[in-house]
Amino acid sequence: MTLHYDVLIVGGGHAGAQAAIALRQNGFTGSIAIVGDEPELPYERPPLSKEYLAGEKAFERILIRPAAFWESRQVALLLGREIVAVDAAARIARTADGAAIGYGKLIWATGGSPRLLGCAGNDLKGVHGIRNRADVDRLASELDGVATVVVVGGGYIGLEAAAVLTKLGKRVVVLEALDRVLARVAGEALSRFFEHEHRAHGVDLRLGAFVDCITGEDRVRAVRLSDGSSIACEMVIVGIGIVPAVGPLLAAGAAGSDGVDVDAQCRTSLPDIFAIGDCARHPNPYADGAMIRLESVQNAHDQAVVAAKTVIGMDVAYAALPWFWSQQYDLKLQTAGLSSGHDEASVRGDPATRSFSILYRKAGRVISVDCVNDIKAFVEGRRLVTEGLLGASEDKQAREKA
Ligand SMILES: Cc1cc2nc3c(=O)[nH]c(=O)nc-3n(C[C@H](O)[C@H](O)[C@H](O)COP(=O)(O)OP(=O)(O)OC[C@H]3O[C@@H](n4cnc5c(N)ncnc54)[C@H](O)[C@@H]3O)c2cc1C
Repeated sequence: MTLHYDVLIVGGGHAGAQAAIALRQNGFTGSIAIVGDEPELPYERPPLSKEYLAGEKAFERILIRPAAFWESRQVALLLGREIVAVDAAARIARTADGAAIGYGKLIWATGGSPRLLGCAGNDLKGVHGIRNRADVDRLASELDGVATVVVVGGGYIGLEAAAVLTKLGKRVVVLEALDRVLARVAGEALSRFFEHEHRAHGVDLRLGAFVDCITGEDRVRAVRLSDGSSIACEMVIVGIGIVPAVGPLLAAGAAGSDGVDVDAQCRTSLPDIFAIGDCARHPNPYADGAMIRLESVQNAHDQAVVAAKTVIGMDVAYAALPWFWSQQYDLKLQTAGLSSGHDEASVRGDPATRSFSILYRKAGRVISVDCVNDIKAFVEGRRLVTEGLLGASEDKQAREKA
């Protein structure tokens, strides 16, 4: 018998789970299924490089909702099953085990998989990414025999893992190819602050460091750098971004590259197929309408609500303020807006006190704020960034009228 659901959600992460929740919250009474390739109930991903890795939070505490919730809301969970193909004309999604699942609307919420190092030795035992529970459980089960961990990539996930592993008593070396950490997402002052913090906590942080290869016979023994030097280690964690999991949708004819393209209602170019979360390249008002992907819980959540409401026939458009947080040691970083393209960055407060914020401006308008241990500045910053966007659109309208 062919299964059929009015709404089929592919991917049971933050976006997929929230799409099902939002459908029911907004009165949708049709059938809903989430098909996800992980065996677990939908869970929160941020703790994976924080409290879960540290062993401070049990898995049950990071579930998005308990099992009974999905049952009571009549959301079918088809877990441990991967969608490998979509036939948009026939409205069928096919699983790796050969099942065909019919749908009325399809919501694609598959996130991405960790980008791999393209060098020799990247498949040795002891080389890990951090994307899902299985990754962290595998990594944690090996930690007892590990003295030194090399973290490749000075982005949020790499730095968060470095903070936890340092706390667990490991010697940690972080290798960043660029000349500062967090270069993709933050201004220089914030990068320098976190570099100082990690070094102060004993992390051996190396900038401009290129990995040549990973060596070892069965397990990792060392990381060799392009300058010929070598770092002996028993574990490597690779945190160099993700590759959006959109193969089946692109093969079905959806427009996109580095993700699948969607409009402000999260519709792809294929009929009745939506995409949301990390895999969705969307026009973002906070990036002057440019097509971007965001990798954050906020974006996954808010796009899920937009897609769900659009499915129901409500008139909505995605225009949420991007925000993000990170936790490293006792430092809580909160960011609102997008700082790329800023022409001015001003630090408020003294970073030496470990409580401060940075305002980013573009052509005089506040476009983003980074706040370290400063919740008041974050609340104020969110307002300034939102008002900055409003001001920008008023200016645009005035220019168009003139
Ligand atoms: C370690 C870590 C720490 C993070 N920390 C933060 C943070 O502090 N703050 C923040 O805002 N964001 C953080 N993020 C980012 C945030 O978790 C993601 O932006 C969010 O999970 C995106 O949700 P999603 O539903 O798009 O993707 P995901 O949550 O990745 O869910 C996608 C799901 O789809 C499944 N899937 C993929 N392909 C298929 C297929 N073909 N068939 C079936 N299932 C499939 C995947 O296995 C996965 O279960 C973190 C991410 C990670 C990995």
